[in-house]
Amino acid sequence: MLTRDQTEALRERLTAQRRQIVSSAQSALGFSMDRDRDRVGRDSLDESTEEAMYSTQLRLHDRETGLLAKIDAALERLEQGEIDQCEECGEDIAFPRLLARPVTTLCIECKAEREESEDRRPTDL
Ligand SMILES: [Zn+2]
Repeated sequence: MLTRDQTEALRERLTAQRRQIVSSAQSALGFSMDRDRDRVGRDSLDESTEEAMYSTQLRLHDRETGLLAKIDAALERLEQGEIDQCEECGEDIAFPRLLARPVTTLCIECKAEREESEDRRPTDL
């Protein structure tokens, strides 16, 4: 069980991350709008460079959307008082681990175990 201070620290961290993602997503959106405006009256100059940049932006956007969903889910668990519960074994997730990775849903043991059985790459803790 987390203390009130710990809960607040996690909420602050999650909302800060959320703000950051939303603002970078907005600048990506600004980029694509500029691109559409610039298209008017233009020939195919730099078209391939532009396409490459644009698909990079889209990939970034997909990644951000996935992260946002994770952050929202973590905030939801925070409100329910479940954010420090490991979804695998139900044990408490250590607070320093939560603070470092607030979107995690596994305690350190389960995370290590899962990575051990799924693939045999070094763990990302
Ligand atoms: Zn666990």
